[in-house]
Amino acid sequence: MATAEVLCIGTELLLGDVLDTNSQFLAQQLALLGINCFHRVTVGDNPERIRECMRTALLRADILITSGGIGPTADDLTTESIAQVFGAPLDVDQEVLAFIEGLFAARGLKMPPSNAKQALRPRGARILPNPVGSAPGIIWTLGPAELAVLGLQDVQTVKSILTFPGVPSELKGMWAGTARGYLEETYAGGTIWSKELKHYGIGESALAEKFAHLLDLANPSVAPYAGNWECRLRVAAKAATLEEARALAQPVIDEIKQGSGVRCYGEDSDTLESVVGRLLTERGLTIALAESCTGGMVSERLTNIPGSSRYIMLNAVTYSNEAKHRVLGVSEEILNTQGAVSPECARAMALGIRQLTSCDLGLSVTGIAGPDGGTEEKPIGLVYLGLSARGADNEERYFARTLRLGKRLGRHEVRWRTAQEALNMVRLYLIDPQHLESP
Ligand code: AMP
Ligand code: MG
Repeated sequence: MATAEVLCIGTELLLGDVLDTNSQFLAQQLALLGINCFHRVTVGDNPERIRECMRTALLRADILITSGGIGPTADDLTTESIAQVFGAPLDVDQEVLAFIEGLFAARGLKMPPSNAKQALRPRGARILPNPVGSAPGIIWTLGPAELAVLGLQDVQTVKSILTFPGVPSELKGMWAGTARGYLEETYAGGTIWSKELKHYGIGESALAEKFAHLLDLANPSVAPYAGNWECRLRVAAKAATLEEARALAQPVIDEIKQGSGVRCYGEDSDTLESVVGRLLTERGLTIALAESCTGGMVSERLTNIPGSSRYIMLNAVTYSNEAKHRVLGVSEEILNTQGAVSPECARAMALGIRQLTSCDLGLSVTGIAGPDGGTEEKPIGLVYLGLSARGADNEERYFARTLRLGKRLGRHEVRWRTAQEALNMVRLYLIDPQHLESP
């Protein structure tokens, strides 16, 4: 299997002013081609360090892919650096020069002399066309002379350099237009197919323990990831074709789904809100929300799903006691004796919003998001959730959850975790209300 190294060039990346999204894109694309990527390096606009990174990459990888530093300004050093590594002269590519001059002429402008730099290519390299912007990159399939400069005499594999601009849309255009095809032809080594199985309601270590026997597999491989108050298991398989890779992975995917049951809520780009949206649509049910401590986060996430107007009736952010009383009909007695953060209030809010809207489902959230407002009895991170549903007989069915998230979490984290739990309650109800009966 061929190996590629990604080298991102630009001081702005090192300073953290610009997020390096090109590496992410390139890594995903290389995996699809079945090309290994063992190193991704970022370097500033400094000629010695750029050359050093290039040499290192070419010694340990078959393919060097660079991003950035091919513009017209003095700090764009990529092409010159490559030429210097090999002591190769830089030729002006007349076609590229005419193309860039044409771009300026089309706008009634004369090309500034500095742009001529973008038409340079090391002798022996080809142009990697840029269908989106002005600066093309280069593709250089290294010959014996270049390999000798690197001190490599008997290399079995082909070594290549591909350069891209930093602008992500241009890089992607050039990848799809030329680079992908070149790499496929030169390094065709099968492909990697992968799927993420997303879980809620089980921690990363519990998940890893449950499927410990799968984590040791080599092909397909299974790896757990945690984050955002949910867990993912990524199943990846390598094979000659996508179809073969998928077939290798499928039994493992089936086993995980079987073992996880409802805790596996979806795949790849699924989110709890998208799954809830899909289930509400399938069941033809409507929902209304009464949120307090989440301040509308559950509503925001649900309404982000295209088509949500089909099932969402009303989202109310009832922050004050007065709003809970006047809009949702929570009794003054509950508010005065139990307080707004209480199981009784959550229930009255859920029923209140459902009756106000005549929806099938009413969801409520009330809690203490912090960082202040907590007491010994009702600490920060205490949250009550309620789901009021219209049963088959028109009788109310009610489900409750209590979260004790602890004092150390920030406001955003309390809200996010609460929103996760709220969405999951709706999901479980829609799959089968039995899942909610024992919390
Ligand atoms: P350059 O080709 O070095 O002139 O970069 C042009 C612009 O592309 C920079 O100003 C950044 O905004 C952006 N850019 C550069 N490198 C990356 C990268 N690795 N990921 C995302 N954006 C980038
Ligand atoms: Mg730059």
